[in-house]
Amino acid sequence: MKYSLVVLLLGLIVCCRSKHKTEVEKPQTASEIKMDSVAADTVVDKATTLRTFDGLADTTFVRLADFSADFAYDMRYATENNFLKAKVYDCAECYTRVKTAKALIAANADFMEQGVKIKFFDCYRPNSVQYKMWEIVPNPQYVANPDKGSIHNKGGAVDITLVDMEGNELDMGTDFDYFGKRAYHDNMDLPQEILDNRKLLKETMEDHGFWSIRTEWWHYNLSAASNDRVANFKWECED
Ligand SMILES: [Zn+2]
Repeated sequence: MKYSLVVLLLGLIVCCRSKHKTEVEKPQTASEIKMDSVAADTVVDKATTLRTFDGLADTTFVRLADFSADFAYDMRYATENNFLKAKVYDCAECYTRVKTAKALIAANADFMEQGVKIKFFDCYRPNSVQYKMWEIVPNPQYVANPDKGSIHNKGGAVDITLVDMEGNELDMGTDFDYFGKRAYHDNMDLPQEILDNRKLLKETMEDHGFWSIRTEWWHYNLSAASNDRVANFKWECED
């Protein structure tokens, strides 16, 4: 009798564990990861224990800083320093799906060989935040319609620039979210240095499976993410 109880208990543990593993839409954060906020412009200390992607599905949402300490962050929508002039995130975090995170880490390794690295302005964006942004600026020219959702809502798009190893931004010609011709990829009427910086960003990102949109030099979509579902999980913030 006792033996069968033990077997039953073991069976339950194994069953529940494997069930947990297949839950791909749930971010791997709730209990097992300590949620340290990534403040604007901070880089996570190298001493922080980094996690590996072992056992994680490609579509799982992860916090990038838990897997690499080599990125810089300036999460603009967690501040009022953005075109909405509104803080639409409770705190600054950069989440993507695992496949996006892997591609970003590989791209960043190439960038670092050139003495630069990726700095993020925005990553995964919960669908509810998309609605918030749409309420402020209901214009599809600037904000994707939340009913359809954008690739940011799917965890496959990032808004980025490049910084040197001291954190100084390379000149890309405009600030993030500058809506105008000067931000277009096909605007060649710019100083050579700016064209070179944009070229380095674009070619390296394309080498790692990302594509760009014509009007925003900072925006990159992972090709492999286009069929993923729009998501709406929200990361935890400390009070
Ligand atoms: Zn974007």
